Amino acid sequence: MDKYTVLKQYFGHSSFRGGQEEMIDALLNGRDVFGIMPTGGGKSICYQVPAILMDGITFVISPLISLMKDQVMALKNAGVKAAFINSTLSPEQISIVYDRMCKGEYKIVYVAPERLSGDGFLFFAQQLNISMIAVDEAHCISMWGQDFRPSYRQIVSFIEKLPQRPALAAFTATATTQVRDDIEQILKLRSPLCLVTGFDRPNLNFEVLKPKNKAKTLSSLLHEHHGKSGIIYCATRAAVEQLCGDLSVEGRSVTRYHAGLTDMERRQNQDDFIYDRRAVMIATNAFGMGIDKSNVSFIIHYNMPKSLEAYYQEAGRAGRDGEKADCILLFSSGDISTAKYFIQNSGESEDLGEEERRLVTEQDYKRLDAIIGYCKTRSCLRGYILGYFAQEHTANCGNCGNCSGEYIEKDITNEAQMILSCVKRVKDRLGYSVGSMLIVRTLCASAEKRVIELGLDKLSTYGLMKNVSRQAVKEYLDCLESLGYLYTDPVYGGIELTKISGDVLFNNEKVKIKEQLQLKKVSAPPDKKAVYTDADTDIDLYEVLKTLRLKLAGQEGVPAYVIFSNAVLANIVRKMPGTLPEFLSVSGVGEFKASRYGKIFLDAIAEYKKDRG
Ligand code: ADP
Ligand code: MG
Repeated sequence: MDKYTVLKQYFGHSSFRGGQEEMIDALLNGRDVFGIMPTGGGKSICYQVPAILMDGITFVISPLISLMKDQVMALKNAGVKAAFINSTLSPEQISIVYDRMCKGEYKIVYVAPERLSGDGFLFFAQQLNISMIAVDEAHCISMWGQDFRPSYRQIVSFIEKLPQRPALAAFTATATTQVRDDIEQILKLRSPLCLVTGFDRPNLNFEVLKPKNKAKTLSSLLHEHHGKSGIIYCATRAAVEQLCGDLSVEGRSVTRYHAGLTDMERRQNQDDFIYDRRAVMIATNAFGMGIDKSNVSFIIHYNMPKSLEAYYQEAGRAGRDGEKADCILLFSSGDISTAKYFIQNSGESEDLGEEERRLVTEQDYKRLDAIIGYCKTRSCLRGYILGYFAQEHTANCGNCGNCSGEYIEKDITNEAQMILSCVKRVKDRLGYSVGSMLIVRTLCASAEKRVIELGLDKLSTYGLMKNVSRQAVKEYLDCLESLGYLYTDPVYGGIELTKISGDVLFNNEKVKIKEQLQLKKVSAPPDKKAVYTDADTDIDLYEVLKTLRLKLAGQEGVPAYVIFSNAVLANIVRKMPGTLPEFLSVSGVGEFKASRYGKIFLDAIAEYKKDRG
């Protein structure tokens, strides 16, 4: 059997995606690989295909035990012999797995990193012919990654205790060079084949909204996405609880997930979401890593996350099988304070030394800076993200909130001069910089206590913009910041002039901005159809097969997409196969699934054709 046969037979795909083939070839030749691919890019195939082809067993190290079960279930459903070992299994269940493992009954075993240091696992592992060790979400090993897990450090000592070093494969969606270097060094990869594939996800539509009332905006967004599956991310557990309560009262189909719930409740809620019993998951960032639910069609961030890495990973859970999806971030300046609070009070770095902790915190602030920049920029959002991940891109993608809005150019040189000189005067007077709200108040002639106490009413810039609303002045400030004329200190929040501010203040440089003509509708444009149902798709048959899929999923106790994804279902509809070989030729249908579901689907199609004459 070759890799193409495996791809088709077990996974039902007819061609490899960018990067997959190279990685697989390298692994089959015994070479280490290091794959950097975005969420949804198809990292699993890179190690699953060679695992099936290689002689021995493959261990996959994965950080979240909650999702191992799903991954193993999907593999088994595709006909691959797989198992997992983590703390959700009883000692009896674990010894059964060990026993079968030693008899060579598995090709792929998912292992929680904590297991590696235990003698029990090591003892069995030393007896086995291990072809490969795949480290998924490899950034967890780096202190610089957004999700450091000390248990990942045990991987290396585990490997060193094996009689023979198997091929090592590391995968991550984090692309910063620092994290990459760290992964390569700590895991001691041996001249690995490093592949960075395109980070762009063209089917995702990015948008940042700055609503006055988030709850109201959320409600209307949910209304527009009614009946679709989506995730709402919140910064805190309290916010998750609050929103979940409010939206349930509104009669929306929601559930929730955060670290404060019991294991059982989390599992239950996760299943409700995955099995489409509930349309919307409201969660903290504890939810979602590795969850491969293909029909998630929107991700709303109710709060700004702590970094662009985290944002892209979370947003990337939408539209996994190529369907168009919306990624919307609801930003308010209060989010910045929340994010800072988390950085200052993070318990993550407790096992680190003082110097290390200082560096981690500094790094956290840099990352925060980048995501704030994303929220405030008026340029292409996709471009901003790709630029951050050091990837070339066009200036305007035409498919994000900032590109597709209608704009006019507006000269704001006057306003800019007033604001910048106020920032300068305030600092000159006080000897330190203050937050943007105090600048706004000074410009708007506020008589509030703090302004008077600090003597800001004595400044020549006091009241310069008293005829402009505070909100509007604040927007000008944000705008100047995104253009680089102002800089907010991420730690102290004070607003400062930059190197280029002088050009506006003293050299009469013009400041121009693009202003939205009208508040753009937040929804997707009306012609935005899911790619899996185009004009050629018989929607009625599609619905018939969907119902059939749901029935089968119910009988087997698996999520519907494990049977066939929406994209595959649409392929079947377009092809309307009449025979088993025709069914097998549909893109996304593998041999295992064809033999399992072929007849029942062919019967349904035949019956449908007969009804329609
Ligand atoms: P990642 O781990 O990189 O986030 P996954 O491995 O979970 O991504 O894959 C994401 C989705 O892409 C899955 O639904 C998978 O079936 C699909 N996929 C992966 N490789 C291919 C391929 N060669 N052809 C078609 N679909 C693919
Ligand atoms: Mg993955």
